[in-house]
Amino acid sequence: MNVQNEYIKSVIEKVIAKNPGEVEFHQTVEEVLSSLEPVIAKHPEYEKAALLERLVEPERVIMFRVPWVDDNGNVQVNKGYRVQFNSAIGPYKGGLRFAPNVYLGIIKFLGFEQTFKNSLTGLPIGGGKGGSDFDPTGKSDAEIMRFCQSFMTELYRHIGAETDVPAGDLGVGAREIGYMFGQYKRLKNVYEGVLTGKGLAYGGLSGRTEATGYGVVFFAREMLKHFGESLEGKTVVVSGFGNVSWGTVQKLNQLGAKVLTISGPDGYIYDPDGVSTKEKEDFMLELRASGKNVCAPYAEKFPNAKFFPGEKPWGVKADLYIPCATQNEIGMKEAEAMVANGAKFLCEASNMPTTNEAMAYLMANGVVLGPSKAANAGGVACSCIEMGQNAGHTVFSPDQVYAQLEQIMINIHNNAAKASEQYGLGYNLVAGANIAGFQKVADAMMAQGIV
Ligand code: GLU
Repeated sequence: MNVQNEYIKSVIEKVIAKNPGEVEFHQTVEEVLSSLEPVIAKHPEYEKAALLERLVEPERVIMFRVPWVDDNGNVQVNKGYRVQFNSAIGPYKGGLRFAPNVYLGIIKFLGFEQTFKNSLTGLPIGGGKGGSDFDPTGKSDAEIMRFCQSFMTELYRHIGAETDVPAGDLGVGAREIGYMFGQYKRLKNVYEGVLTGKGLAYGGLSGRTEATGYGVVFFAREMLKHFGESLEGKTVVVSGFGNVSWGTVQKLNQLGAKVLTISGPDGYIYDPDGVSTKEKEDFMLELRASGKNVCAPYAEKFPNAKFFPGEKPWGVKADLYIPCATQNEIGMKEAEAMVANGAKFLCEASNMPTTNEAMAYLMANGVVLGPSKAANAGGVACSCIEMGQNAGHTVFSPDQVYAQLEQIMINIHNNAAKASEQYGLGYNLVAGANIAGFQKVADAMMAQGIV
């Protein structure tokens, strides 16, 4: 990254030196801070208040042992994490990720991103993230329950409806949230909205399951609208096949676009007819529920579709690209393939799917990029609505939720576009989202003194 500002440069250097080996965390700090140059130049008081140094240091990092017994009677031990990153604008809020590659650097990158994402929603939620290096693939239901209960047996003392409200992320869906909620309630003897993404029978919000994917598509629609285009008839390359991909595919179908691909760790599916029917959408849920983490069976079920083992879908030509799998799924090689195919729009649904180098290359080659912290904020926005529903001891209807979600996504898009415009950067949603998300957190931190 080409950073001129000495203050920003020194903070980035310190982050790299003080957090050795946490490459994903370095990546997001570099990406966010480098786009804040015009803001920092305008606000010399931030340096005096060591605002950036405080922003990059989590308020609290909790790490713990998660022991559990597998179905063969063997004792297993995993690492548990909760990073309470920033509470300037509200209680810590953000998901829990269960995946074997989870380590502190991943949780810190996600917590840092979450701080700005949550700010962008316009709602009063701070940033946090947690998880474990537990691998849910192939685990029995009983093992998942025992793991979730053990995880919560430590986590419960650090969280609460007004303190820190976790939710799902990769590897954590409604089932895991249910087990963790049950254990929290049992340990604390309080019935409160301490987790979001709950089942509808016990405080969950109608529409939360599809919220992230729907929100991404609303955001993409606004991006296209800016250029006088619509989603109707557009071809879309989607990666992943989990909750976010499923919601994205469903909303794209409703708005008349054609989804050409989905993918998994085992390869990608190309469906020339589009992942376009209710049966196909439902099959994505079945694939996920199988617990095997593979997408290949889609091509057996729908024989017109083709499975490409071990490959990613980024070489497929399309009007719009929506990565929904995980971080850094688009590097230089994938970006070059996209540009060679004349890509015009990339809307990020997974957190930080594009490397900084690939991002710069895509934008330099005219690809319009909707950054994840803006585009995928619909999930956490609905989580905050779920918190409100629980605190008010009430229930919202799906229509109430969808209407709010759509308006929130329009506002995020417009605020990011406006912030970029204000600082003379044109229509740069990457910089605009960072600036708009940062500004509210910065205002709150400056008002609250050196804490
Ligand atoms: N894990 C989701 C995200 O990355 C949702 C977090 C939440 O709902 O708290 O934003």
